[in-house]
Amino acid sequence: MSITAYKARFIAVNPKKILKNEYIHIEAGTIIEVSPRILPQTERVINLGDGIIISALINTHTHLELSAFKNQISYKYGFKKWVKTLLEKRENTDKKILIDAAKKAAIELLNTGCAVCAEISTLKLTKQIFAELNFAGVWFEEKLKNDLPDNFKINKTDRIKTRQNRYYSYAGHAPHTTSPFLLAGLKKETKKAGLPFSIHTAESAEETEFITTGKGEWAEFLAERNVDYKGWGLPAKSSVSHLENLNILDRLTILVHLTFASEEDLRIIKKRGANICLCPRSNYNLHDKLPSIETILKLGINACFGTDSLASADTLDILDETAFIAKKFPEISAEKLLGMATINGAKALGIEESYGTIEKGKKAFFLYLPVKASDKKAALKAALRKQFNGKRVFIDSFQ
Ligand SMILES: [Zn+2]
Repeated sequence: MSITAYKARFIAVNPKKILKNEYIHIEAGTIIEVSPRILPQTERVINLGDGIIISALINTHTHLELSAFKNQISYKYGFKKWVKTLLEKRENTDKKILIDAAKKAAIELLNTGCAVCAEISTLKLTKQIFAELNFAGVWFEEKLKNDLPDNFKINKTDRIKTRQNRYYSYAGHAPHTTSPFLLAGLKKETKKAGLPFSIHTAESAEETEFITTGKGEWAEFLAERNVDYKGWGLPAKSSVSHLENLNILDRLTILVHLTFASEEDLRIIKKRGANICLCPRSNYNLHDKLPSIETILKLGINACFGTDSLASADTLDILDETAFIAKKFPEISAEKLLGMATINGAKALGIEESYGTIEKGKKAFFLYLPVKASDKKAALKAALRKQFNGKRVFIDSFQ
C-alpha cells in the first residue's frame, strides 16, 4: 500500500488544535500520521494550498426524500399549512421523481464535503441511494402515528457494520405526531441493538400547544387525518419531559430542533446525556425563531448541525449552517462551530472512533477550504463563514 501526504498552510486536526505547515499521511483510506515532516515511505505529496483543511462535514439530520420539493412550498402561511402542503405534494408525486431528486441532492451533499450523514426516510426510498453512494452514518426509517407492528424487532442485517460505518436504525417522527407506545417501542428496540434513535422535538409553537394542552390547531389537524391521539397521555409539561417520561432520553438519542425548548428542558437533556441536532436555517424559515444555542453550548450538551430537507432549507451544506450561525451569533467561537459541524455529529451517531477529526487511525475524510488568512484562528473563522476564494476540495478515500 502506498502512502500519500496532503499539505495545506493550516490543518484543523480537531476543533481545539490547528497546525501550520504540516502533512496528513494516508494509507489505504486511513490517516496514519499527521506530522511536520514527510514520512520516508511517502510516494506522493499533494499541496492543496494556502487555505485550511478541516475534517469532513457531518450532516446529522436531513430528508433526501423531500428534495423534489425544493422551492415548492411557501413558508409564509405558517407551519401547519406547510406540513399539509408537503404531505399533499408527497402523496401526489411519482416515486421516480422523488428518487431522482433525492439522488441528485445526495450527490450535491457529497460534493459539499459531507460523506457522513443521518438520513430520515418515511417512504423508504433513499435506503438504496445511501448505500450506493457509499455514505457513512445512519439511515433512519421514520415511523409516526399509532402503528407499532406486532412483534417489532430490529433485523440482524440492520446491525451490520460496513467498512464505512453505515448503520440502519429507526426514528420516531415527533411527540405531537407519534403515539407514546410507538416511540417507547422503537426506542427500546434501537437501544437493545446499540443503535442511535432520532426524533424531532419542540420544533413548533403548534407542537408545544398540543403537547401542553392536548388541544389546539394541531389536535384538529390530527383529527382531520384520522389519527386518534386520545390515549397519548396528554397534556404533558413539555415535549422534552414527555419524552423523558417515556425513557427516550439517553446518549443514543438525537433530539432534532429544540426551537421551543425551555432552559429546564435543556437541563433535562444535559442530565440524560442526549444529543441535540440543530437545523437553524430550517427553523428560521419555518418558525421565524432560533433555538437557544448559547444556552445549549453553555450547558455543555453534545450539539451538532443538520440541514433538514431542501423543502425548508436552500442547501444541504453544513457550512451554510455555520455561516448562518456565525452571522447571527458572532460571539460563538469558530472552535465551537467546527465541533458542531464535525466531531459532535460523529459522537451523536456513535462513530467518533472513525470520523470527525483528522487524527491517527481515523478514516481519511477531510476538506480543503481555500481561504486567505495569515493566522490560524482567522483561517478557521473565514472557512466557517464560507469566505472562500476558489473551490473546496474534498478528500474522500471511499469514493
Ligand atoms: Zn426533519
